[in-house]
Amino acid sequence: MLIPDMYKKTIFDINYDLLKEKGITCLIFDLDNTLALIDEKECPQKVKVLIEKLKKDFKVLIISNNYKSRLKPYEEALGIDSVSFALKPLTKGLRQVIKKYHLKKSEMVMIGDQIPTDILSGKRFKIMTILVEPLAVKDLKITSFNRFIERRLIKKYEKKGLFQKGDYYE
Ligand SMILES: [Mg+2]
Repeated sequence: MLIPDMYKKTIFDINYDLLKEKGITCLIFDLDNTLALIDEKECPQKVKVLIEKLKKDFKVLIISNNYKSRLKPYEEALGIDSVSFALKPLTKGLRQVIKKYHLKKSEMVMIGDQIPTDILSGKRFKIMTILVEPLAVKDLKITSFNRFIERRLIKKYEKKGLFQKGDYYE
């Protein structure tokens, strides 16, 4: 079952205080279409403001399937660590950060816009997951197959009354 633990429109709608209450100390974000559009080479200012605020309470990291060169400006602008070419839904990136930062699974949350990659990697690793809507319809080429899979999955869940696109919850 790939139903995310929480579902919000954007990263700005997530109740981070609630996450803190639940014992979360490490926020792991996807990059493309979660933090920024796929063609935004520089980190958007409002993302910078949010992450700066969150860094006071959480360890903040990015795990992306994209290349190091894509992540570099975000790492620098946000002053955070990232894992590139993570091959989500594999858990490689998550395994890397849990070891590096001596985290517990119960402290970590994976936040992303794709069920077949972000949410699946979090579920496989048995950590909390939060789905957000993709910032734009435009995806990386490699993502279109995942989107096809995702649409079928969501349809199935909607039929069973397990999940409804656009019905946000926490
Ligand atoms: Mg994404």
